[in-house]
Amino acid sequence: MCGLFGVYGSKDAASLTYLGLYALQHRGEESTGIISYDKKRIMQHQGMGLVNDVFDSSAIKRLKGNIALGHVRYSTTGSSSASNIQPFLVKHRGGHIAIAHNGNITNAFFLRCQMEQTGSIFQSTMDSEVIIHMLAKLRNKKTADSLPEVLSQLEGSFSAVMMIDGVLVGARDRLGMRPLCIGKLDGSYILSSETCALDLIRAKYIRDVAPGEIVCIDKNGLSTIKLEKETRSAHCIFEFIYFARPDSDIFTKNVYLTRKRLGAQLAKEAPAKADMVMPFPDSGNYAALGFAEESGLPFETAMIRNHYVGRTFIEPSQYARDFRVRIKLNPIKDVLKGKRVIIVEDSIVRGTTSRSRVKTLREVGAKEVHMRISCPPIISPCYYGIDFPTKKELIASNRTINQIRDFIGLDSLKYISLEGMLEAMPLPRSEFCAACFNLKYPTDIPKGFRKNILEKGK
Ligand code: AMP
Repeated sequence: MCGLFGVYGSKDAASLTYLGLYALQHRGEESTGIISYDKKRIMQHQGMGLVNDVFDSSAIKRLKGNIALGHVRYSTTGSSSASNIQPFLVKHRGGHIAIAHNGNITNAFFLRCQMEQTGSIFQSTMDSEVIIHMLAKLRNKKTADSLPEVLSQLEGSFSAVMMIDGVLVGARDRLGMRPLCIGKLDGSYILSSETCALDLIRAKYIRDVAPGEIVCIDKNGLSTIKLEKETRSAHCIFEFIYFARPDSDIFTKNVYLTRKRLGAQLAKEAPAKADMVMPFPDSGNYAALGFAEESGLPFETAMIRNHYVGRTFIEPSQYARDFRVRIKLNPIKDVLKGKRVIIVEDSIVRGTTSRSRVKTLREVGAKEVHMRISCPPIISPCYYGIDFPTKKELIASNRTINQIRDFIGLDSLKYISLEGMLEAMPLPRSEFCAACFNLKYPTDIPKGFRKNILEKGK
């Protein structure tokens, strides 16, 4: 889970990239970086933390040139280290290759072992570094010539923004699992994970990078190369459910409207007698709105979010428990006391956050607490870049719905059906990967990779 942004042909390339990353912050809060190029020198600034913490105006000023690319990285359970900050840069044969990547290359370990056998030395544990090595090995002529050969060997998911000897490159895997779009701002080209970042800088959305497409942007404009044709797509359905920003269009369709449709569908499938509908803000807001509209029940924002909660805070454990949950959301007693409430949530992953939040609703006197979930039970890990915990930790993989209901402390719990979720999507069902719900993984998952995810988490 990461966010990508790239600019070609603007004297403000780095500051536009900074703004773009700001809009994509939800795609990764762990670390961030920007690389720029002024035809002579490569400049780089990066760090652990949020975009606003890592960059200040002097850092942006130092990132000169009219090409820039940037990355925000999601915090994963495993390797949260500075050596894994992206974009990743190497200087090679007098030139350079920089890459920012979103997704999981499932055969990266295999490719890496192969290359280590022939003397390659790796500096990070990132799968993106494999792409760099492959490019470096093959780069005999022009960049564009070696890209298809390298990218067609990769399995799994990748959207990537690269800079190779001053050419800005955007690429998507053949199944189009992760989003990536193209925009234009005056004369310059923009690449972005989501359209909300184009809106911020007032760039015009042109189109998505197509599944299996490589776009190369240089002084002659945009040229395109297609990898071998796939007849199917496998867009990540969880981008619509939870991950992408509601004001974005991903895979060409709007996220907010999709979430509202999911909520409406859920209300049809799983109504409940109650006094009001409420979300756990912010992720549940839009499905809850759709649910309330469809069911004709009042929509209340009966839990208020503190928007200033940072990544860490000092927990005064001697005074209170559940601080981590309560610092973020606070219930409104007068709205909840004596009421039957339906909470609409986008998803249950481990169940632990929902459990603590439901407990606080009970503490302020909610009479009945029902929960409705706008995706089916998540029963299997994602091998393509969504940071789900291991199968063991996914509550729906080893408990029945009634057991989950009891664990969270609910009067009733219902999920949208797989059928209903697919029906609410803005694209044909055959175009989605929903493997975390239905186990239909669109690619083979190498055994070693599966084991690694199942046992250690990614
Ligand atoms: P829990 O009750 O602990 O399962 O937490 C569920 C909440 O986590 C939901 O509100 C989701 O919005 C959010 N969520 C969904 N997917 C993820 C994910 N991959 N990583 C972190 N949080 C997530």
